[in-house]
Amino acid sequence: MHKRILVTGGAGFLGSHLCERLLEQGHEVLCLDNFYTGRKENIVPLMDNPFFEVLRHDVTFPLYVEVDEIYNLACPASPIHYQRDPVQTTKTSVHGAINMLGLAKRLKAKILQASTSEIYGDPQVHPQPETYWGNVHTIGPRACYDEGKRCAETLFFDYYRQHSLSIKVVRIFNTYGPRMVPNDGRVVSNFIIQALKNEDITIYGQGQQTRSFCYVDDMVQGLIRMMESRDEFTGPVNLGNPGEFTILELANMVIQMTGSKSCIQHAPLPEDDPMQRKPDIALAREELGWEPTIPLKHGLVKAISFFEELLSAGKL
Ligand code: NAD
Ligand code: UDP
Ligand code: UDP
Repeated sequence: MHKRILVTGGAGFLGSHLCERLLEQGHEVLCLDNFYTGRKENIVPLMDNPFFEVLRHDVTFPLYVEVDEIYNLACPASPIHYQRDPVQTTKTSVHGAINMLGLAKRLKAKILQASTSEIYGDPQVHPQPETYWGNVHTIGPRACYDEGKRCAETLFFDYYRQHSLSIKVVRIFNTYGPRMVPNDGRVVSNFIIQALKNEDITIYGQGQQTRSFCYVDDMVQGLIRMMESRDEFTGPVNLGNPGEFTILELANMVIQMTGSKSCIQHAPLPEDDPMQRKPDIALAREELGWEPTIPLKHGLVKAISFFEELLSAGKL
């Protein structure tokens, strides 16, 4: 069925892939973005499609449009960007959620929230199931993001209980792939760019901290499956790839795959950097019939060729 779908943060990394997939499915897409970390280049290829529309707007302000479904992705996602203006980050998550929930309430539209594994903080339960309440440092430098996203989850469930809104909450674990913002300091983009330039690979701490990396196409599939899940299923549901790697393993894999001459250099571990992270995706498997299909090595090949193209075009 043809739907009008709003994607906030639609010019970002995940948002642009989502817009593309929804257009391919025959929907009409309204892409909203304030271009804080989003890039025009991400959506230029979609601009010729008459069913694609772009709106420059900040979700912290009210929005009056008519749509059938809302994917709320607007929020800077990398520590460098979300810590640059932490007050704005909290506002984006909290005021943004209130405005998008108000919009969904008026329209009786279904709304999905892009929450995050960061709501688990530095987890003391491993792997993390949805039932774990987390371990977040409320006044630390990551709190603007973590607590903003936690409050957004609270708002979603209060609108659900108080106003019978149709909500879907997904907790996204580290995702990578083409169109990652090159300068946003995330580990996959940093390592690939450093390796391609034969510069030192910067490992923060000893590199024994772990992350689980999901390829973007798998993630987009998960987001759409969640939006289309049975009405009673609200989540929160974890979406991520349960393959767990130390940061040192990732660095060695990138060096080997790019044939780079880079050496490893250690730098201080940022404050509150979680030591381990791996999703328990039993609920996603059961409710959505979803699990990632693209192993890290295969996904890295695609991510590397994306950054190679940027490098040869002089865009890095
Ligand atoms: P991104 O920075 O590429 O995209 C976020 C987009 O939101 C950008 O286009 C940005 O300009 C826009 N934006 C930011 N503040 C806004 C505002 N106030 N009003 C309107 N637009 C605004 O990041 P991403 O990796 O694509 O992340 C998308 C969503 O997924 C975010 O909500 C993020 O928290 C969540 N998420 C991502 C990951 C990941 O690994 N990429 C992990 C967990 C959660
Ligand atoms: N809102 C919006 N678009 C709409 C409806 C509401 O942006 O179509 C915003 C509006 O700014 C409001 C917020 O969403 O403050 C919450 O709306 P809700 O109806 O839940 O609360 P109220 O209007 O009573 O504050
Ligand atoms: N990291 C690193 N070198 C870098 C960038 C990141 O060692 O150049 C580490 C970082 O300290 C963290 C992990 O890689 O332990 C993932 O960092 P990222 O910012 O990508 O995501 P997040 O910490 O939000 O999961």
